[in-house]
This record gives sequence, structure tokens and C-alpha cells, in this order.
Amino acid sequence: MSLSTTISENCPHCNSIQEIEYYQTVNITADPNLKDKVLNGTLNSKICTDCLKEINIFSGFLYHDMKNRLMFEVKVSDKQDERKTEVINEFKKNGYIYREIYSYPELVEKIHIFDNNLNDSVIENISNKLKAMLDESLKQIKEPDSEINFNVFFKKIENGFFKKKIVFYCFSHPSQMMEMKYDFKNLTESEKKNLYNIEILRS
Ligand SMILES: [Zn+2]
Repeated sequence: MSLSTTISENCPHCNSIQEIEYYQTVNITADPNLKDKVLNGTLNSKICTDCLKEINIFSGFLYHDMKNRLMFEVKVSDKQDERKTEVINEFKKNGYIYREIYSYPELVEKIHIFDNNLNDSVIENISNKLKAMLDESLKQIKEPDSEINFNVFFKKIENGFFKKKIVFYCFSHPSQMMEMKYDFKNLTESEKKNLYNIEILRS
């Protein structure tokens, strides 16, 4: 079951009072249409009835996929809630894969990875390797103490005729999006073995 509350908030653009429905739990098995809202970034947002601009509620929520036993918690702070932890441990005992997530793009990436039946920890390893490499190359040309670094997100698996590749989006600034392809032949033996093994992630 999904769980939502309706709250009254002032529109940040025109200050008029607006009623906004916001979700604490999104159960995409019970409400598949909510998955689209999560993926296109319109969950917990609405168009102001007065100024027609978009209002976003920045708040944590739980993404729950019962069919695939996935639970992603989008968190806005590090605070732990004991009662919640207990509930989540119960789900984990039942074979759920649980992930804590601290940004919206990360959530979309997670959903995308599991939609492709891929093991997210293998993808994360490779994406960290690429990020380290890119950050290092950036260091050569930037000021040593500059704060700029790369974001790397999984895009897709490319099934070429002879070789398969894992494609990532990489950017240090969203206006400079590029793609990097990681050849399957560069995977280690264990990465190869586990890339399509999701069951190994369940405790
Ligand atoms: Zn408004």
C-alpha cells in the first residue's frame, strides 16, 4: 500500500496557499503508475493553481517494489529511526534488497539497474573505478584544490554483435554529458559471474 498525506504549503513562487499530496511510501506493485512519477521526477510535486509554476516537496520516502522484493529508502538526513530499522530488518529477513539513497538521480539509477536485472554492487564497483579515473584526469588540468568532480551513472547494457558493453553517463557539469563504455572483457571473473546475479544480494 502507498501512503500519502495532503499538506498545505505556500507556493515558493507566488506565495499562494496550495494543497499538495506527498508520498511517504510508494508501493509500485500496488500503484504501478507511481513508478512513472518517480522516474520522471513528478512524485511529490505539483503545478501551482495560481502561477502555474512547479512546486517540489523535498522529503524522504520509501520506494517499495513487492514483486521484485526491493526497498529503496530516499533519505534527506542521516538520522536513524529504531522502529523503522526493525521493520526494514524484517523485510531483509524475507529476502528483500534494501538500499539507502541520498539523492534523486541515485534513486532513478537504482531502479534502472534492477529493471535491467543487474547486480547493483557490481555496477557500482565499475562506476567507482571510472569515476576515480575521470577525477584523476581532471586533476591534471584543474587547480589542485578545485571542488569539481565527476558523476557517473549507469545508462544501459549495449549488446553488440561480438561484444557487450556497459554504458555509463559521465559528467562534471550537466551541460557536458558524455558516455563511457566498459567492455565486458574488462570485467574480473567474479564481476562476470555476479553481474546478472541478483539473488546473491539477498541475505
Ligand atoms: Zn504559485
